[in-house]
Amino acid sequence: MPKLAKRGVWCGPSDAGRDKQSVRSFVDQIERAGFNLVVMELKHGGGSLSWPSHRFPEAVSERAREFDLPAVLLEECRKRRIELHAWMIDYFEGENGAAYKAHPEWAALDARGNPTSCETLRRKRYGATWMCPARRPGYTDQWLVPLYEEFATLYDFDGIHHDYIRYPGDLAPDQYCFCDYCLEQLPRYAGYASEAFPDEPFYHRSYDRPYLEAHWEESPRVLPANWESLDRTSKSRFLLEGSFFQGGRNDLDFFFYQYRIEAVAEFARMAAEAVRRARPAMKVSAAVFKNPVHSGRFIGQDWRRFIGLVDELMPMDYRSHYPGDFETHLALLRESILSQQVWAKGFKALYPGIAVNFLYFEEEDAGRPCKGEKLARAIETVAETGVEGMMIFAASLIERYGVWDAAREAFGRYS
Ligand SMILES: [Zn+2]
Repeated sequence: MPKLAKRGVWCGPSDAGRDKQSVRSFVDQIERAGFNLVVMELKHGGGSLSWPSHRFPEAVSERAREFDLPAVLLEECRKRRIELHAWMIDYFEGENGAAYKAHPEWAALDARGNPTSCETLRRKRYGATWMCPARRPGYTDQWLVPLYEEFATLYDFDGIHHDYIRYPGDLAPDQYCFCDYCLEQLPRYAGYASEAFPDEPFYHRSYDRPYLEAHWEESPRVLPANWESLDRTSKSRFLLEGSFFQGGRNDLDFFFYQYRIEAVAEFARMAAEAVRRARPAMKVSAAVFKNPVHSGRFIGQDWRRFIGLVDELMPMDYRSHYPGDFETHLALLRESILSQQVWAKGFKALYPGIAVNFLYFEEEDAGRPCKGEKLARAIETVAETGVEGMMIFAASLIERYGVWDAAREAFGRYS
C-alpha cells in the first residue's frame, strides 16, 4: 500500500484569524484532517505582507501591524509537529502595492511600453502588475530577495514557498518583457552584436555550406543596422519575431524564451542563496505548472532548472489545467505525475497538488451538492502513483465544499 508521508495544505491568513485562539483552532482542524504540512500565504498578490517587516514597513498589511501571525502559527505548528512553509507570491504585484508605487520602472512592459495592468482579460481591465524578473537593479534583487532573507532571519519556519515564479502566461505568453532594461539586456545576453566592433556585420567568409544557419559559429551581428533608431515596438517585434541571419529562419523567439527561463532560474538561485545564508536548514519549496517543457516556453518556468535551488516541488495539478470530464482528468493527472516523477529526480521531494473547487465543475454547473467522494478519488489517484506526499488547495475551499472528513478518511488510508 503506498503511503503519503507528507500531507500539505495551502492556506491564507483569513483561515487562521486574528488572535491566538483562532490560530489554535485552525491548526487543530488541520491536524484533525490528517495534514502535517501547512503552507501559509504571507506575501500576497496585491503586494502586501503578512508579517511585520522592518525592511519594507510600507508593504506590511494593516492586520500584520497588530498581530504577528507567523510567530503564533509557528508556535502552534511546532507543538503538533506540523511542518510550516511561508508562501510568497513572487512576480505578481498590485497596482497599489508598495513596490510598484515606489518603483514603477520595475514593472514588466509590453512592446508598447504598457504594464500588465493595462491588459484586458475576459472583458475586464486586468489591473494587476507583473514585475520584470530580469531587471537589475530591480524587483528581484532590491525587493524579493531581501524580503525572503529578512523572513528567514526573523522566523524559524521549515521552508519558504515560491508561487508565481514566472512570467504572466495566463494573460499574455509572449508579450513580456520589453522594458528598457530588457531591450538593452536581451541582445547582450544573446550576443547579438560585438561590444568591441558594434557596427561590424561580421558576414561569413563565404556562404559555402548547404544551409544559411550552418554559418552560425562566427557570431554575426544579429541586430539590424538601424537598431539604434528603431522605436520600442519595432525593437520588441525584432527580438520576438526576427531572424538570427538576415534572410534566415525567424528563430529569435528561441533566445527570447531562453532569456526568460534564465531570469526566473537566476531568481531561484539568488533566493535560495539568501534564505540558506540566513537559515541554513530552511527548505525552499515551489508551486509550479504541471509540465516544465510547456511552462518553459509559455511562462519562463522550466522548473527542471530549479534543481538544487528548490528542494520540494509542488506542481499545481489542478483540474482547471486539464481538459475533459472528471474521469479523463484522473487519467491525465496520473499521467502527469508519472512524467513529473522523471523530471523531478534531482529534487528532494515531489508533492503534487490538487485544488478542491475544480473537482466539482459538474456539481456546480448543475447546482448539485458536492460530495467528498471526488476529493477522495483524486487523493487516491495521487497516492497510487507512489509519490511520498501531496498538497491540497486550499484550506478555505475544504471548508467551503465541506470536505474535511473526506480528506481525513482518504489520508487515513495512506498514512
Ligand atoms: Zn524587463
